[in-house]
Amino acid sequence: MAQRTAVVTGAARGIGAAVARRLAADGFAVAVLDLDEAACAPVVAEIEAAGGRALAVGVDVADEQAVSAAVTRVAEELGPPTVLVNNAGITRDNLLFKMTVADWDSVMGVHLRGSFLMSRACQRYMTDATWGRIVNLSSTSALGNRGQANYSAAKAGLQGFTKTLAIELGKFGVTCNAIAPGFIETEMTAATAERMGVSFEDFKAAAASLIPVARVGQPADIAAAVSFFVSEEAGFVSGQVLYVAGGPKD
Ligand code: NAP
Repeated sequence: MAQRTAVVTGAARGIGAAVARRLAADGFAVAVLDLDEAACAPVVAEIEAAGGRALAVGVDVADEQAVSAAVTRVAEELGPPTVLVNNAGITRDNLLFKMTVADWDSVMGVHLRGSFLMSRACQRYMTDATWGRIVNLSSTSALGNRGQANYSAAKAGLQGFTKTLAIELGKFGVTCNAIAPGFIETEMTAATAERMGVSFEDFKAAAASLIPVARVGQPADIAAAVSFFVSEEAGFVSGQVLYVAGGPKD
């Protein structure tokens, strides 16, 4: 079988970088997408050093033209993208009365508009191949989280988006699932600690004390779940939301 191509957005660091490395290890050619193309280079170099194929592509996932150009470039230079991981994300936390329209729009833009544009651009390669896998990064914040009206609405929205794509694309051999991480140790959670004026170590310890498995998550924990959803044997699993949070959530 020809090597399949996976696209991972927001893959220059954090969860996206771990997913890119994991999918390369699983045998996929991997397009490493992020706002800054140069920032993707270390992940691409790591994948190539391990014997894999990868391509760095700079793109703002909320920009329709840029998404279209990026996906075309991936198809031409790496192969038709039949796996898509919508991972790019931002936070603009604030209590509702202080949240600006810009805070709201930018979070909706990256998570919802971005996942929509990327999925729409990639789906034709999947339906042409009668095989495809889409994985969307939701969050436990979808269940509600103080100071995150924008982010939790976007992450809950991604769950509805996921279920709808599963229904529409299933007959073409395409599955769509969501992963809802709990606390994962990345620059995103480090920035939250800084914003709250606590050291990252104290912030992680406080989070871990509330997590049944008694530790915070690592990017590799999420990459392992993505690896399952995009695998051949997961073809009968679609429209699901998997909470990867060290304990039950609902
Ligand atoms: P991260 O370390 O902040 O990485 C996110 C990446 O996305 C960054 O490289 C960022 O680029 C990129 N990005 C932002 N806006 C983009 C855009 N418009 N187009 C393309 N790329 C863009 O975040 P993370 O912690 O790895 O999170 C990854 C995903 O998991 C996000 O969707 C997040 O909401 C979700 N998640 C994370 C946690 C957690 O605890 N960390 C929990 C639940 C869900 P720049 O650096 O240039 O901004």
